[in-house]
Amino acid sequence: MSRRRQIYEGKAKILYEGPEPGTIIQYFKDDATAFNAQKKGTISGKGVLNNRISEHLFTMLATIGIPTHFIRRLNMREQLVRQVEIVPIEVVVRNVVAGSLAKRFGLEDGTALPRTIIEYYYKDDALGDPLITDEHISAFGWASQDEMHDIADMAIRINDFMAGLFAGVGIRLVDFKLEFGRLFDNEFSRIILADEISPDGCRLWDMKTNDKMDKDRFRLDLGGEVEAYTEVARRLGLLPDGAVSTVLDLDEHRKARGK
Ligand code: UDP
Repeated sequence: MSRRRQIYEGKAKILYEGPEPGTIIQYFKDDATAFNAQKKGTISGKGVLNNRISEHLFTMLATIGIPTHFIRRLNMREQLVRQVEIVPIEVVVRNVVAGSLAKRFGLEDGTALPRTIIEYYYKDDALGDPLITDEHISAFGWASQDEMHDIADMAIRINDFMAGLFAGVGIRLVDFKLEFGRLFDNEFSRIILADEISPDGCRLWDMKTNDKMDKDRFRLDLGGEVEAYTEVARRLGLLPDGAVSTVLDLDEHRKARGK
């Protein structure tokens, strides 16, 4: 690991230079933050699960024609991805009222929305990721109208696909956050899905019990974070029943060996 050049360290991931030009290694940490990093903690094993869950979702999305940065998983905590220029916008897709939407409009948590809502937030921690509109995006040049058209189009397709995928395993896809990037080919660029899709950036509720199976367990001090993420992975068919402790134990061994 020491040979590799670190490009960036974020709240939940570290990016390293990849083996070939135009590639990046995404390392998934166990660190968790909430409320614009005012709350910090560690969820032991989270990185392993998010790496696997995100790999699965990106691979599935590629099968329906969503272009993504994902190339392949390298090991328990790392995946090789295409280098992109991240569009500085967090794209939030909502099917059900929760979180900041409930707060902002005084709505009751859990109310199904009559139609899917897409929101944009400007990615800037110092400003607390403010809610923005297409007008800000175009006035400040964060993305072109063509790019925003592609982004909104993909966000809706991703939502339709993922809502069905999760419903099939008894999980309600309440809302989630996406990030997109520009993939350059000489002077041309196109928009592809980037970052990750994992319970860190989704609200996932058990359809029968309404139990939260996502980062809200950490935000709201509910406990059982890794168990909830594990259950998401298990329902997606990513862990054979009873294999959870083995997966996490293996990772502990790997860490103990200093790899
Ligand atoms: N989200 C995220 N990163 C952020 C903000 C939100 O991944 O910086 C996700 C969050 O996990 C949820 C959705 O986007 O699934 C909508 O979040 P919301 O606006 O309700 O904000 P929050 O309640 O998390 O402050």
